[in-house]
Order: sequence, then C-alpha cells, then structure tokens
Amino acid sequence: MNCTACGKELGPGARFCSYCGQAVAVPGVAPPRAQRLYRQTEGRMLGGVCAGIAQHFGWDVTLVRLALLAIVLCGFGAPLIAYLVAWIVIPKQPLVWPYATSSPPSSGPLA
Ligand SMILES: [Zn+2]
Repeated sequence: MNCTACGKELGPGARFCSYCGQAVAVPGVAPPRAQRLYRQTEGRMLGGVCAGIAQHFGWDVTLVRLALLAIVLCGFGAPLIAYLVAWIVIPKQPLVWPYATSSPPSSGPLA
C-alpha cells in the first residue's frame, strides 16, 4: 500500500504516512477527524462554519457549502439562522504554532 499524497511505501497497519503525515485511508475505518468541532480559520469563506463541519465529519467542504446553499435556495430560512447560531456558538479553531511538533534545530551556537 502506498501513500495517496506522496506515493511512498507504507508499512502494514500504518495509519499515517511517516513521510508526509497524510492519514491513510483504511477500508471500513473512518479517517481520523478533528476531536472538537471548530470553525476553521483557514479555508473559510464566511464564518468558517461549513469548513469546520466538513473537517469534523471528514466531508468535502464544497459539498457542505453546496448543501447549505441548496437548502437556503429551496426556501428554507432556518439554515441561515442555524449558521449564525453556529457561528456564535462554535469556537474558532485555536492557532497552532507551526513548529510546535518539530524539534528545534540541534546545531546552533548554543549546541
Ligand atoms: Zn505520504
């Protein structure tokens, strides 16, 4: 089995690619998802609610947006209110320091 993102060979039972960190799609097993429902700060269009829902459930964010749009265009106004409520209720995804998981450089003037 190879990584779907970088194509590297994966070990048996691997859940993440050790080269690029891509989650490995295992048949019958749901992909790992965000533990909490957050509004996404990246890739959002308005409040990040659709992006957060898509991230949480492992759905395509475009499909979530299209579904919301289709429901609203069909004459149901409730999703708009639900969106606004979700915007208020769901916390914004906390900022993650990009280098938090990597170790500091070992070679330096203080090493
Ligand atoms: Zn990979």
